[in-house]
Amino acid sequence: MIREVLLSAAILMLASPAFGQLTAPEGSDAPALTIEMVTEKIHVIRGAGGNIAVLSGDDGVLVVDSGTAARSSDVLAAIRGISDKPIRYVVNTHWHPDHTGGNAAIAAGGAMIAHDRTRGWLKRGGIIDGTPVPPAAPAAIPEFTIKFETRIYLNGETVQILPVPGGHTDGDMVVYFVESNVVHVGDMFVADQFPLIDADSGGSIPQLTRNLDGLRAALRSDTRLIPGHGPLSSIEGLVRFSVMLESTSALVVNARNRGESVETMKQNKLLEPWSSWASDLVSADRFIEVLDKTTAGPVRKPSSKKQKGTDATVPPARPKG
Ligand SMILES: [Zn+2]
Repeated sequence: MIREVLLSAAILMLASPAFGQLTAPEGSDAPALTIEMVTEKIHVIRGAGGNIAVLSGDDGVLVVDSGTAARSSDVLAAIRGISDKPIRYVVNTHWHPDHTGGNAAIAAGGAMIAHDRTRGWLKRGGIIDGTPVPPAAPAAIPEFTIKFETRIYLNGETVQILPVPGGHTDGDMVVYFVESNVVHVGDMFVADQFPLIDADSGGSIPQLTRNLDGLRAALRSDTRLIPGHGPLSSIEGLVRFSVMLESTSALVVNARNRGESVETMKQNKLLEPWSSWASDLVSADRFIEVLDKTTAGPVRKPSSKKQKGTDATVPPARPKG
């Protein structure tokens, strides 16, 4: 079966270099995975949880996020349809199981890299949206952790890994392929939709807004963005997203200052101007709750004791070239 998937992947890659659809596993009603070519060296695999970026070339393969555990064999087959070189690195943008579930299978012969706190969540388990998530299997827990900007030079590409914690979770990282000018931003951003903020894992909207402002300053005006879910986007999409975050935050903070409860805000349809951003995953009412929760009270700020450039700051400026 793996061979068949592999073969169809290879054929589709040849037949349609920009976009290919793989067959779903036999006897399964799981949706088929798709492969999109972003550049000659970078592909995105969709349909196995979060979006998976694959950097390939003569030096080997680097993968950003690994999808769900249930689809890991399909993801592996899809990667093998892109390149037969060794998978050398798997980088996790954050700990959620739709981004790390395939770690053990996909990084079997390579290294897993994550933020220090992402490793902590995977080791301990946590709660996502009220649902307990058990600790990850030992083989799925990254052995390399970082808290500072780190670079990997592979396939003629500078792979810049930037910790930007505190927006979606406290272990968020983005991965910038500098020469290709493409960045995987994990779940910090989704095009034209309200984001899922995992406050139980240290996420907050004020910090997300700051992190995205810093990220925008570090990227070029024509950088292409791979969101954690959904289609590719652009800096224009990121700007729209930041405007939405600032506007909806102001609406909720002002309503709270007028003495309105969350229930009143919902009844008054406070986010009506942004109703097109609601999705099955995050409704306007739910986003009001998150906005209220994470804009109230003291917001986590970088400690004054920490040096400039530590993990609680925005990313440094992009390198030259
Ligand atoms: Zn997530």
